[in-house]
This record gives sequence, structure tokens and C-alpha cells, in this order.
Amino acid sequence: EKALVWFRRDLRDHDHAALSAALLEANAVYCAFVFDTDILDALPNKQDRRVHFIHASLLELDAALRARGGGLIVRHGRAQTEIPLLARQLGVAAVITNRDYEPAAKQRDMEVAEALRASGIAFHSLKDQAIFDRDEVLTQAGKPFSVFTPYKNAWLKRLTAGDYAAYPCQGQLAGSELAGVPSLAALGFAKTDLAALGIQPGMSGARTLWDEFRSGRIKRYAALRDFPAVKGVSYLSVHLRFGTISIRELVRTAWSDEAETWLSELIWRDFYFMILDRFPHVVGHAFKPEYDAIQWEDWPEGFAAWCAGRTGYPLVDAAMRQLRHSGWMHNRLRMVVASFLCKDLGIDWRLGEQYFAEQLNDFDLSANNGGWQWASSSGCDAQPYFRIFNPVTQSEKFDPEGKFIRRYVPELARVANKYIHAPWLMGRVEQEGLGVVIGRDYPGPIVDHAQAREKTLARYVVVKKGG
Ligand code: FAD
Repeated sequence: EKALVWFRRDLRDHDHAALSAALLEANAVYCAFVFDTDILDALPNKQDRRVHFIHASLLELDAALRARGGGLIVRHGRAQTEIPLLARQLGVAAVITNRDYEPAAKQRDMEVAEALRASGIAFHSLKDQAIFDRDEVLTQAGKPFSVFTPYKNAWLKRLTAGDYAAYPCQGQLAGSELAGVPSLAALGFAKTDLAALGIQPGMSGARTLWDEFRSGRIKRYAALRDFPAVKGVSYLSVHLRFGTISIRELVRTAWSDEAETWLSELIWRDFYFMILDRFPHVVGHAFKPEYDAIQWEDWPEGFAAWCAGRTGYPLVDAAMRQLRHSGWMHNRLRMVVASFLCKDLGIDWRLGEQYFAEQLNDFDLSANNGGWQWASSSGCDAQPYFRIFNPVTQSEKFDPEGKFIRRYVPELARVANKYIHAPWLMGRVEQEGLGVVIGRDYPGPIVDHAQAREKTLARYVVVKKGG
């Protein structure tokens, strides 16, 4: 029997649930990837780092598969058409893939499965991206969790070595004569600055980051992870997004190294996959429906200033400029800028969510939506609405010497530590002396935090009444 493995966000040739199952069950295994026009056509920018990252990762994957007699068969079109067509052409008995939790992907997979069934071809989707999925970690009452800590405790209690064991993927593959990755230009996209940013795609890129992190920083993660000026985190998010590394390998190491705090982050990832899978209304709506009654400000200039990193709050601006420059932002800063957008500027979290979706290399609907709903207080296990980050205090705490700020807001490079977090407090003479006049060389604060806080508390009152 023949089988087709359909790769999506799992661009590796080892520890891969679908590939492993196909190799066990079939005697000829083909591998395919579809550049899905439903996704690509919707991207406004044809110089997209994600598409470039995927493309480069596919070249590496294709080479690895070729070394085993196969290769990657690449199609450009709608998956609902391309996969059934290819499956029929190859005469396979089954298409095997790794499960996706996004509503649009679930719908697509249902349509593909239906088209295959009409031709007598089976469709299997397997758990691969997550350690546990929808029905595996439940409350005593058999319901999905909506609070993280008890979810995490139940997750940890359930975990056995089998859950993080690698899927064996040895074996010969078929289809080298059909394989080949088209050029990026042929897909209508251009190369980006990934190399200049030092972002190395593919399994090899993931390996480099992972080796470096696990042999050193993983031990200091809990102490360093909140300081954006310090190299403290793993930077693996884009690789987890596209599956160039296996979650099981990471969990295995985190567990055996007792890297509890870092393991917790990986559990958040599973948690938000599960939330998206079980509560798909979170796409476009608050997890807690009463939060949809909030009246947000209609303030395009405020939103534009936030996007451009010109709010006058140095830490917020540095973070937004880091995002625009590199497509990545430190987790602490994602929380700070998200809170700033909805609780200082009073702007709908969905606009911020959308902007992040466009800009982040690691954009993942589940984690991004979860993060935004957390910050706006509308989500599961969210920050209570009356807990409002103070952007100056956050800055003093997490970038005490303003190192991160100075890296991304060069206008403020010469400002003394005392004023780096709130430069508008500098006297005019001092400003002139440094050549950074607030309002001329760097914006004054776009809102007064104390006033904004009061406005937000009033804005959120509808929630208290409703809930
Ligand atoms: P590390 O700190 O080394 O963590 C390791 C891995 O754990 C990450 O790569 C990621 O896969 C996972 N992880 C860490 N924190 C979270 C979290 N809170 N939720 C889910 N998974 C987590 N992460 C994304 O991968 N894609 C997104 O689109 C995304 N959007 C976010 C939006 C907001 C508003 C917030 C507050 C957070 C968001 N995050 C998102 C979570 C987190 O900020 C990033 O995963 C992290 O900064 C990536 O850097 P790292 O790989 O060095 O993380």
C-alpha cells in the first residue's frame, strides 16, 4: 500500500507523527507540501518573512527526504483541490497529516477528507504539535480547563515518558522523480532580510538555537527571562511555529533538566492550542462574552502611533520598533505593549492582535489570541481588568538601565538613566543640552497614564455589571 504524508507546520523529517505512521503502515511513502493560495493570496506584503522561512525550510526538508530516496512534492493552489488530486495521481490508500487546531485549518481538513473519501482514500490526522490535545487534559468533571494553573498541574500529572518519546522515522521514501521546490519568485514572493537578522530557517537553524539554549541558558531562564536587554530566552518560537523542531524533544529535555519555568511556557503553548480548539469563538470575540460589550476608542492616530513606536513611552516604543525591525518581540514587552494599547490608549485588542499577526515571524493564532485576550482581561485566566500595567514602572523594573530602550530608540541614547523611562520629566534646559527636545526629537507621552487608567476602569465597568 502507498501513503502520502502531507506536511504543513511540521517541516522536519524526524520525530514526526504522520511520517512515522506512514512508514510503519505503507510500503511506499510520498511526501507533499502545498503552498496554499487561500493563505498566500491574503498576505498583503509579498516580501513576507514567514513565507521566506517556510520556503528555505522546505529546501532543507526536500534535501533530507531525497537522501532517503524520496523528496518533497510541492504544489501551489488550494489544498482542497491539490491534495485529493495528487493522492489520486499517486494511487495512495491514505493521506496522513499532523493535526491543526485553527478553525480555518479544521474546516480545510474536513473538506480535504471529504474529497478523498469520495475517491475511496482514507484521511488520518494525528497529534504532533502538542503533547496533549483536546480530550487529554480535563477537569474532574470531564470539562476543558479554562484556568492555566490547574491545567498545568493536571498536564504534569498525566505526563509519562511515552508522551515525549520521539516517533521513529527511519525508512526509505518514494517519489523523488516528482519532487522539487519551486523558487520563491515563482510563488510570487521575494526574499527578505532573514539572513541579515540572523534568523536561520530549517531544522539546522532550530538545532543551532536549541543546542545553544539547552547547553547553557536553560538553567538561567527563570532568572533572566523577563529582561529584554539580556539574552535569556530560547528564540525558538518561529521554529515551533513551523515545526522545524519537535515539541517532544524540548519537553523531554525540560523535564529531565527540571527546567520548570521553561517547561511551563511550553505548557502555555499546549493550553492555548486546546483553548482555540475547544472555544473557537475566541477568534474575533472575547473568551468571556461580557467583554464584547466594551466600547473602545475610535482613534486611528493613536493606533498609528502605537504601531510606529511613537507613543512617547520609551519602553513601548522600543518594543514596537523591535517588532517592526525584526518580526520578533520579547514576551515581557508583548504583555506591556498589549496592555498599553487596550488599557492606556483604550483601543480594541483585536486591532493589536491583527497587527501582531501581520508582523510576527512566530505568529500563531492560538498563542497570539491567548496573549491578547490575557492582556485585555477578556480571556481565560486573564489579567483582572483593574490590574493595569504602568508602562513607566514596567520599564524601571525590566529595563532598569534603559539598555533595551537605547538599542531601539536611538534618539534617547544619551538620556540619563534617571529620565530614560519618562524623558518628558527632564527640564527643558537639559533637553536642549542633550539635543533631544521632547515634542520635537521624540514625542511627548500620547496619554497621561494616571488619567488613562481612570478612563479604563470606567470603560470596563460594563463588564462588572454584565458579569
Ligand atoms: P521562550 O520564552 O523561550 O519560550 C519557549 C516557547 O514556549 C516559545 O517559543 C513558545 O512556543 C512557547 N511560549 C512561551 N510563552 C508562551 C505563551 N504565553 N503562550 C503560548 N506559548 C508560549 N507566541 C507565539 O509563538 N506566537 C504568537 O503569535 C504570540 N503572540 C503573543 C502575543 C501576546 C500579546 C503575548 C503576550 C504573547 C504572545 N506569544 C506568542 C507568547 C510569547 O511571547 C512568545 O512565544 C515568546 O516571546 C517567543 O520567544 P521564545 O521562543 O524565546 O520564548
